[in-house]
Amino acid sequence: MATRILILGGTTEARELAARLAADARLDVTLSLAGRTANPVRQPVPVRVGGFGGAAGLADHLRARQVDLLVDATHPFAARMSANAAEAAREADIPLLALRRPEWVRVEGDRWTEVESVEEGIERLGAAPRGVFVALGRQEVAPLLAHPQHRYVIRSVDPVEPRLELPQATYLLARGPFRESDERRLLAEHRIEATLAKNSGGDASYGKIAAARALGIEVILVHRPRKPEVPSLATVEEALAAIAHLAGPAEKRGV
Ligand code: NAP
Repeated sequence: MATRILILGGTTEARELAARLAADARLDVTLSLAGRTANPVRQPVPVRVGGFGGAAGLADHLRARQVDLLVDATHPFAARMSANAAEAAREADIPLLALRRPEWVRVEGDRWTEVESVEEGIERLGAAPRGVFVALGRQEVAPLLAHPQHRYVIRSVDPVEPRLELPQATYLLARGPFRESDERRLLAEHRIEATLAKNSGGDASYGKIAAARALGIEVILVHRPRKPEVPSLATVEEALAAIAHLAGPAEKRGV
């Protein structure tokens, strides 16, 4: 019988991992999405959408579907889901692997102010009005309302709705990956003086960090939330090797 794998996704890496595992006939892979994005990109394996109803709901799902392996490939800021995954895997008594991309590390020329929360980041912009590029995700922009003196350029995958009651806000819709050259152009065009972002890690959204460095722009960077200590891999390749080890030697589909 095929090894059943449930991947908790919502990231580029989850999609890549699913695509690579789909080629192995011994595996039966499903990808789970929270359902936050209106038009998610096409996925290479069957997808289920929506919350499970907490850790207990996920544990029920794992048992009912006879899942053999749970892979937590959620975004570094999806702390709730990762905590639920750890608890549910324990409850259902199945192995859990996490795919956790390394965080970005400061290099020479970076002007970073590291903060613990979005609220603290907005405080740190200061009282004087500034041009601020906001790349936080549309769920996290409400705290900007506390500091309406700034001129905000807010980028998200789906529209921020309702619009924030801010005197100066421009909304941009775009889905990564973002190239450094394009990000530089954007920062210059909008006369940006500070960038507000999360330390997401990975290549797809690093362009804005490199662009800010090149232009000498301050980046206010929100630290990651703590995630549970579980066996973790940093790359899709490492995750594939660990899964192959758990599932036994791979067989290619159609060979
Ligand atoms: P979160 O705060 O950790 O999760 C909140 C709730 O959403 C969870 O308790 C769970 O509901 C549901 N959920 C989250 N991920 C899910 C998944 N892959 N499949 C099914 N249900 C899921 O997560 P979040 O920060 O809102 O992120 C939601 C999704 O967007 C995640 O899949 C994440 O990978 C992706 N994402 C997040 C960010 C970010 O900055 N936070 C950025 C890019 C992508 P139940 O308790 O009902 O199961």
